[in-house]
Amino acid sequence: MKKIRIALVGIGKIARDQHVPALAANSAFELAAAASPNHKLPGVPNFPDIESLLTALPDIDAVAVCTPPQIRYDIARHALERGRHVLLEKPPGATLNEVSALIQLADRQGVSLFATWHSREAAAVEPARQWLAGRKVRKAVVTWKEDVRVWHPGQKWIWKAGGLGVFDPAINAISIITRILPGNLVLREAELSFPSNCETPIAATLQLSNEQAADVRMDLDFLQTGPQTWDIAIETDDGRLLLSKGGSLMRINDDPVIEAPEREYPNLYARFEQLVRQRQIDCDVTPLRLVADAFMCGRRVVVAPFVE
Ligand code: NAP
Repeated sequence: MKKIRIALVGIGKIARDQHVPALAANSAFELAAAASPNHKLPGVPNFPDIESLLTALPDIDAVAVCTPPQIRYDIARHALERGRHVLLEKPPGATLNEVSALIQLADRQGVSLFATWHSREAAAVEPARQWLAGRKVRKAVVTWKEDVRVWHPGQKWIWKAGGLGVFDPAINAISIITRILPGNLVLREAELSFPSNCETPIAATLQLSNEQAADVRMDLDFLQTGPQTWDIAIETDDGRLLLSKGGSLMRINDDPVIEAPEREYPNLYARFEQLVRQRQIDCDVTPLRLVADAFMCGRRVVVAPFVE
């Protein structure tokens, strides 16, 4: 079968850490070019932007958009308008309307559009969904606490409007709970803490519930030093489930059940290949919608300025 010639747009941390190795290991794809204002990828033609890349290389089939979210829409729209399949890093856009416009455009063009949620590919997420499916969830506590200085050094876009602040990592937790908890989650209340010099929050607490009246609490912090926590603890009418390490380890009633090597990005590209071959769209905006609700309805508190 013909290889899918793909270009990476935005050669930052995630493109280098995950997309390049996942593509190198997947024989369905040929990494054929890159576009980024400053960084370059060795071994492929490099361009400063998507426009010059697609003009110079008309045989590119697909584009993976790995930039900060604020500019994702214009880049994706440019690629879709020129008939290219598009993979979107998370979050799929800076606003919900951007994403629905992209879905309509991809549909009109007959090409695929894939809004990726890499944390949903963590090893224990699907087993957790299956274990929870027949049980009544009483309570869930999501603790997502990491050190922004370690994981996002120098990423000024995270503190600008549309960069999501602490919701940049927390949307991964939301992508997991919206996959594994039965029913629809709705926001009950939220408090967002904004550093006085930033446009996005550095910490937040959220209270959510679903049709089963499950009590779901999220504690989010971007200033966690020492051990980092990416845990989801769930109490049901028939035992306790703990997902930790971002969804890669599952314990049932304290016994480890699943711990498997990470295959998040290889899985994403395996799925993207299917979507491209069948010209299908896979764009779930549920995690982005809950984040938008928190920004729309959450109380705002101003806290100490953030100094990198
Ligand atoms: P990053 O290291 O700041 O990289 C973003 C890159 O985008 C920059 O290197 C910049 O390239 C490039 N860029 C800026 N404007 C551009 C434009 N107009 N056209 C093309 N490229 C442009 O950020 P990141 O950590 O990789 O995150 C990017 C996205 O991936 C975010 O949405 C994030 O949520 C998501 N993500 C990140 C991680 C992670 O662990 N970091 C994990 C999963 C998902 P130059 O350097 O060339 O200027």
